Amino acid sequence: MNKVDHLIHAKWMVTCADDNQVLEDHTLVIHDNKILAILPGTEATQRYQANDEQHYLSHAITPGFINSHTHIAMNLFRGLADDLELMDWLNNHIWPAESKWVSQELVYDGSLLAMAEMIRCGTICFNDMYFFLGATAQAAELAGMRAHIGMTIIDVPTAWAKTTEEYFTKAIEFYQQYKNNELITPTLAPHSTYTVSTENLEKVKKLADDYHLKINIHLQEAPSEIEYSIKKYHQRPLQRLHNIGMLSPNLIAIHMTQINDADFAILQETQPNIVHCPESNMKLVSGSCPVEKLAQMGINVALGTDGAASNNDLDMLGEMRSAALLGKITANDPKALPAMHALKMATINGAKALGIEHITGSLEPGKAADFIAIDLNHIETQPVYHPVSQIVYATPRSQVTDVWVAGKQLLKNRELTTLDEKELIKKAQTWRKKIKS
Ligand SMILES: [Zn+2]
Repeated sequence: MNKVDHLIHAKWMVTCADDNQVLEDHTLVIHDNKILAILPGTEATQRYQANDEQHYLSHAITPGFINSHTHIAMNLFRGLADDLELMDWLNNHIWPAESKWVSQELVYDGSLLAMAEMIRCGTICFNDMYFFLGATAQAAELAGMRAHIGMTIIDVPTAWAKTTEEYFTKAIEFYQQYKNNELITPTLAPHSTYTVSTENLEKVKKLADDYHLKINIHLQEAPSEIEYSIKKYHQRPLQRLHNIGMLSPNLIAIHMTQINDADFAILQETQPNIVHCPESNMKLVSGSCPVEKLAQMGINVALGTDGAASNNDLDMLGEMRSAALLGKITANDPKALPAMHALKMATINGAKALGIEHITGSLEPGKAADFIAIDLNHIETQPVYHPVSQIVYATPRSQVTDVWVAGKQLLKNRELTTLDEKELIKKAQTWRKKIKS
């Protein structure tokens, strides 16, 4: 008998590995915070003895979700301004509120509120872009989540930095502080092609090459962005980035709802990762990303919620459902973006986009013990013919019962283990009073 840390027995195990297997009555063998094996339940108990055994008799175990694009601290602006066009929403509502209120304290409190929401819906990792990076990193360390923290570069002064030069200086400081952290990964995040000059985009590219950093950028999100670029630079944003040499598998292009034939050819040649944010795109009527066509071209498309000010939640289960439904309408094909594809966008495709597919994103021996349990034994998800169908098309996030990140349990039978729910609600209400006044 081999001694191990945990045996996790489950009714269903959705691995999200290449073979798309859904296993029944299997066991995850966890040791040293990693997946040691996945075996039929009887075989696992014959071969291994664990200090801790968990029985998920009516649950599906899946990899934890990866939210590949968000601005988590914006949870404190949730519901502040809705039902507006993108530029109106940004220029007249969000940016004024941010310039008045964004601070170390707001980002810390907003990040914790968002992390509590994310853990409660099975998200184990997020790819953020915001200001006061240290506050988000500190919050992530307390919460125990995997955090990819975008070091924002923007030619607009904020409370975080007065000049683009200062954004670069602060980015390098943050990188130096967190470059060797196990769960926190610094990335570069030039905001967009309409808020960063060509010279500064070139500087971002050089920094990314020098320090081996991923680059995140909002790209071809809405028609107005394309019009602005053609007027000012006589080319589309994608072409402009291509000329700078920024398009490669190292780039994470967020949104991409506006793609013409010339863009498809560039994407095919350069293979960047794309993050689809269907609910934000629908709410702002930005357009819709042609996910099915991109996937058929072999381009990796991951899933993100965007910030809670344009969504208005960080619910990856809801986002998967929206992606699957919008994907069918966009492709005009009910066979497009099936449930398993949506689930993989939220797991292994996110890991590939962030460059951590060797660590997480699927249940496979050698990867980190990052997994969640979803209880399907509820009125809303019965009967179960196909667990993946239930997860994507019918399961509310309240049925996520347990969440593990790197072998540590962050949600235990719906209770947060690292964060204080009551305290976070109190803080959110205090911020609402301040912001509303
Ligand atoms: Zn965004």
